[in-house]
Amino acid sequence: PTEQAHSTPLLIKNLLLSGVRYEASQEIVYRDISRYDYATFIERIHRLAGALTAAGVKAGDTVAVLDWDSHRYLECMFAVPMIGAVLHTVNVRLSPEQIIYTMNHADDILVLVNSEFLPLYQAVEPQLTTVTSTILLTDDGTRTAELRGFVGEYEALLAAADSHYDFPDFDENSVATTFYTTGTTGNPKGVYFTHRQLVLHTLTQAGMLNSLGQERMMSNRDVYMPITPMFHVHAWGMPYTATLLGVKQVYPGRYEPELLVRLIQQEKVTYSHCVPTILQMLLNAEAARGYDFGGMKIIIGGSALTRGLYEAAGARGIRLSAAYGMSETCPLISAGYTNLQIEAAGEEEQITYKIKAGVPVPMVEARLMDEQGNFLPHDGHTQGELVLRAPWLTQGYFKEPEKSAELWQHGWMHTGDVAAIDHTGSIEIRDRIKDVIKTGGEWLSSLELESLISLHPSVRDVAVVGVPDPRWDERPFALVVVAPGEPMDATLLATHLQPFVDEGRINKWAVPTQIAVVDEIPKTSVGKLDKKRIRVDAVAWLEQ
Ligand code: ADP
Repeated sequence: PTEQAHSTPLLIKNLLLSGVRYEASQEIVYRDISRYDYATFIERIHRLAGALTAAGVKAGDTVAVLDWDSHRYLECMFAVPMIGAVLHTVNVRLSPEQIIYTMNHADDILVLVNSEFLPLYQAVEPQLTTVTSTILLTDDGTRTAELRGFVGEYEALLAAADSHYDFPDFDENSVATTFYTTGTTGNPKGVYFTHRQLVLHTLTQAGMLNSLGQERMMSNRDVYMPITPMFHVHAWGMPYTATLLGVKQVYPGRYEPELLVRLIQQEKVTYSHCVPTILQMLLNAEAARGYDFGGMKIIIGGSALTRGLYEAAGARGIRLSAAYGMSETCPLISAGYTNLQIEAAGEEEQITYKIKAGVPVPMVEARLMDEQGNFLPHDGHTQGELVLRAPWLTQGYFKEPEKSAELWQHGWMHTGDVAAIDHTGSIEIRDRIKDVIKTGGEWLSSLELESLISLHPSVRDVAVVGVPDPRWDERPFALVVVAPGEPMDATLLATHLQPFVDEGRINKWAVPTQIAVVDEIPKTSVGKLDKKRIRVDAVAWLEQ
């Protein structure tokens, strides 16, 4: 065997060619603004690479993108790492101070910015210390802007660039992407992934989605649209997988519920993924009223999939299943799975397993650890911190040696999640360590309570947090959003939860005696329950 045979590097450029090989005429669609086929897509990636190189970007440089979900974002996910540079997907929902912090911390040198963000961007620009040049992204044809080191408008630059670029080979361990965790406390932390990691993640995701269990999750006969921002963990890596398979891809830009529903209908979207909040928003959209989603498949992750949401979506023709991961894990770790035995056990049992965090995908090892670093049994009851090993976990937090060491204590990556693992290997996330409610010496899972409360027919949204209690240490406090005009109070909620107490699913201390009915529950920049703010609000509510 030659040297080459042993050392063919795993590079992102190798993910690009199979899709077009199979389905060159398959489309990539951006809102109702642009559509083109895979053959054009490949050519545009070559042109973008040429334009970036002409703008002075070299291997090892970091290039930032501020855009809504678009075909341009997808092109950057390939072209930037393919020239050896690092793609920084900037979380546009962070505060201006945090955006400045992350962009300086990541050493961004060139920025591609959507014209919609110009007011925000121009306000932060004077404080950016490393950025030297800027490219404008625009839907409306604007071609100029007062920006530092303005290179030009994206489409004009692509048109002017060469249609062929010689993409080099390099070390597969080169960093390809970086982004910042939303960090509920302190500064956001930068995670980063190499070409090798992203390639292995994509191959595993593609293989798993297509082959496991009863139903194929995403094949290239599906139509894919992300409803998880591309700035957040590469839209869960799914655009890489869709491209690898040659799937028709639809990018919705900024998430407007009415447009999302229209795109689903017009482009015949069959496959997506999102956090529970976004699905909730979609189901409640005016345009979706009375609409049957016709068997559309949606993977829910980022927060627990509650039984209430599973059923509500099912009634609208949406098939849900859960997956688990986090920014630090690229993100795919596990997905809800029903093995042959569970399938034979009937529908109830199947749902229970579909909505769990699920079974680790190949090459992922998941264990439970106590505070001293000892492993705990996988008996379905014992709880411990979920710790992981896998080829695609972040090696640490960028320029944060102490936090990196903490993340990787005892040689395993610490998730900060409390979990149990049963004999089928299925992981159940009980709570985040910091969200567990400690009452009278017991640990209550806020997630389990939220899931059970969500089953009440009037409940639209719910969050449960622990509030300080002089006698019990903490007591659960529920914030509930109910359907317009529906009654709700602590007594009605207690009546609803009583059967679960009788069954022994929760103990009687878990039933919240204090609840607040609100119009909206505070969410984080990626649409998750903002437990930190909710705790503050809950305490304020109680003091009223
Ligand atoms: P952030 O910490 O900013 O929310 P992440 O997206 O990395 O950013 O969040 C990952 C966390 O989301 C996990 O640690 C876990 O607590 C939660 N999570 C993700 N998927 C699930 C799931 N299927 N069930 C329960 N919790 C989940």
